[in-house]
Amino acid sequence: MQIDGGCHCGNITYEAIIGPDHVFLCHCTDCQVISGAPYRSIVRTSEKDFTLKSGTLKTYIKTAESGNLREQNFCPECGSHIYATSVGDENRYFGIRLGTARQRDQLIPITQYYCQSAQSWVQDLNGMKKIDKE
Ligand SMILES: [Zn+2]
Ligand SMILES: [Zn+2]
Repeated sequence: MQIDGGCHCGNITYEAIIGPDHVFLCHCTDCQVISGAPYRSIVRTSEKDFTLKSGTLKTYIKTAESGNLREQNFCPECGSHIYATSVGDENRYFGIRLGTARQRDQLIPITQYYCQSAQSWVQDLNGMKKIDKE
């Protein structure tokens, strides 16, 4: 399916084509710190299927636990994280941050990675008090 989205301030916009089964969660500690959230939700596409429509991304290279380098791309104005990818490979996969996609309501994750470092409460939110707005 075709998706489009962008950062919070509107500087960065993009379009991408994704497969229906390419949505997942990552509970690794790097995703927790970089996203500022208990886990990160990711929509996978390939470099050729991603088009940056406006803005210039800021890139931060992190070294993963495996030693692999990962390129993290952010809006330089508002800090929204747009996607991560590998460094130097051909035909790279882009892990778009689900929350930046306008179609996020339709992007249902099917797999969770790095469950060993998942927050203990995150698998069951049903017992938590629910309020429609703050
Ligand atoms: Zn922005
Ligand atoms: Zn991760």
